[in-house]
Amino acid sequence: MQSSDARTPAAPSTEKIEAPGRSGEARDALKRFFGFDDFRPGQREVLDAALAGENILAVMPTGSGKSLCYQLPALMRPGLTIVVSPLIALMRDQVQQLRERGIAAAALNSVNSSADNAEIEAGLRQRRYRLVYVAPERLARADTRALLREAGANVLAIDEAHCVSQWGHDFRPEYADLSTVARSIAGGEGGALQLIAVTATADPPTRAEIIAKLFPSAPRVFIRSFDRPNIHLAMRRKANVLSQIATEIDRHRGEAGIVYCASRKGVEKLSETLRAAGVPALPYHAGLAPDIRSAHQDEFLHREGVVIVATIAFGMGIDKPNVRFVCHADLPQSVEAYYQEIGRAGRDGRPADALLLFGEADVRLRERQIAEGEAAPERKRLERRKLNALLALCETPRCRRRTLLAAFGEESGPCGNCDICEGRWPFYNGALAAKKALSAIHRTSGRFFYGHLANLLIGNATAAIVRHGHELLPTFGVGKEFTPAEWRSVFRQLQAAELIEQAADDRDRWIITPAGRDVLTGGAALELRAEIGLPSGRRMGVTQALQRIEAVATEEDAPVGERETRRERLPDKAADLTAMQARLFSALKARRLEIARAQKQPPFVIFHDSVLIAMARARPLSLGDLALVHGVGPAKLQRYGAAFLDVLAGHEGAN
Ligand code: ADP
Ligand code: ZN
Repeated sequence: MQSSDARTPAAPSTEKIEAPGRSGEARDALKRFFGFDDFRPGQREVLDAALAGENILAVMPTGSGKSLCYQLPALMRPGLTIVVSPLIALMRDQVQQLRERGIAAAALNSVNSSADNAEIEAGLRQRRYRLVYVAPERLARADTRALLREAGANVLAIDEAHCVSQWGHDFRPEYADLSTVARSIAGGEGGALQLIAVTATADPPTRAEIIAKLFPSAPRVFIRSFDRPNIHLAMRRKANVLSQIATEIDRHRGEAGIVYCASRKGVEKLSETLRAAGVPALPYHAGLAPDIRSAHQDEFLHREGVVIVATIAFGMGIDKPNVRFVCHADLPQSVEAYYQEIGRAGRDGRPADALLLFGEADVRLRERQIAEGEAAPERKRLERRKLNALLALCETPRCRRRTLLAAFGEESGPCGNCDICEGRWPFYNGALAAKKALSAIHRTSGRFFYGHLANLLIGNATAAIVRHGHELLPTFGVGKEFTPAEWRSVFRQLQAAELIEQAADDRDRWIITPAGRDVLTGGAALELRAEIGLPSGRRMGVTQALQRIEAVATEEDAPVGERETRRERLPDKAADLTAMQARLFSALKARRLEIARAQKQPPFVIFHDSVLIAMARARPLSLGDLALVHGVGPAKLQRYGAAFLDVLAGHEGAN
């Protein structure tokens, strides 16, 4: 649990007064009122601060026991605690549970009968309750506030505090007025309610918004770790999805796993194919009859080694401890959704795997769905931001876990348990590319999105570019070495590495962080991840292929003499090719010409003849093999690899 004072992180907390014996008392109360022997991780710190009377914002994962952080202090101190909660159903559950424990609690809301409400109001005046749950719209009424003042309310607990955020999914306008409400209940005159806000979803900008809108001054902020260190995180570019998934299932033969697909059709197809291949795979989606769904769920829960292939409809309330892997065959909905979904693996704390496959086509589809959807423009911007954060995670040049946790506002170092930490992706020196990208952001005051910035960099004078006069900027056309997709990847990596971030007050504006400025002006070194997809890798294991790609990538930096030795091993004369190799050479040349024409460039800029000859000779069938051909550096591999592999793989005799 990290704790920080929101605005003055380094300042010692002077007003924190801890009564001696408080902790012992709290534990006794925990046992007495709730029958629990021990605090859950994180609860203790929040409780101590609450008992010391501090204003608090606690961000803790779902199920970590946030309610206790305001319930227990309510029982241990005099006065009435008001709990605001956006959902009447949840309110009712909580009140019922408290009452079953013999705790005097009530709820004021619009679904109670007027007789019920009258009785509760009377009870409040007699100060009979310790906790009262109130719907936010009810708190907006002056009579309710007067009643609560009369009832001696001294604490306002705000459940689901992220509802105060305009940008969140759950924005509740009444939440925006809660600080006024709190002041008016306290009745002015220097009196103030203690505020205890809790939520499970608050990225740093949302947190800043909560703090600014709810609290009169900086609260104590607690963030309980969202980390699930036993889950190995990996993400790969989609190549042959079926074989990528099959490989993962093979690694986990006989173990339970979940494969998420974006569509029902995807679920049906994949589960059938897997079953045909002998995998005990069962489909699960909202289109199946309820009895089939529950039968499949039971199988998964109670039989060993079942793989469930599902849409996001699957998983709520599933508490199977020994799920050993979660695969995403398609992009999940958001970073939060991804976190929830992989969180179903390894609940027993033993090693588990999370593998996500992402492809440019998925990204295009999602972008189109957002653009063509019915949602209001603001909503669409939010959707786009969420997609972007997710893609930043897919393409992060930094430790996955570090990037994932950063999305939840947690700082951490490299984890050693993800594909990036394990060095499974090749990197290149990205300082220059980053400089260009950052300067594009700087020159456009952070006001434009990746697509526009990519056009700016490659010198594509689109209508939008011209409308804003961006073709006149010095940055226009300085980045012709990359395609727009590659530039988008660079931007996402910059976002993931926190060199740029969305402004807290206006999340449609990019700001360059101090670390970003170091790269832009200070010439700080930066490694970016090469965009390398992984086709099936028929000729060697994927790991091996990646190791080779890396070996070659580092070799580019090797002293010239060493590189020359490589060249000597590679004959470059067309004359001594076999007939089949010569035909392949022609096919490769034809592909080169297509690309050259499309890019309006001479063919040799793409690859020299000698390189195509070497390709025809070696006939590489995976990017790993292709990387070994002299003259195919990481940049070209990334840019043209797939196009040439296509020819190489499609050629006769390519087995
Ligand atoms: P959250 O709001 O964080 O999702 P809740 O406050 O609803 O979680 O708590 C989740 C469950 O954990 C509840 O059933 C609650 O009674 C239980 N719980 C909370 N604290 C403890 C504890 N210290 N020991 C055991 N169970 C706890
Ligand atoms: Zn890592």
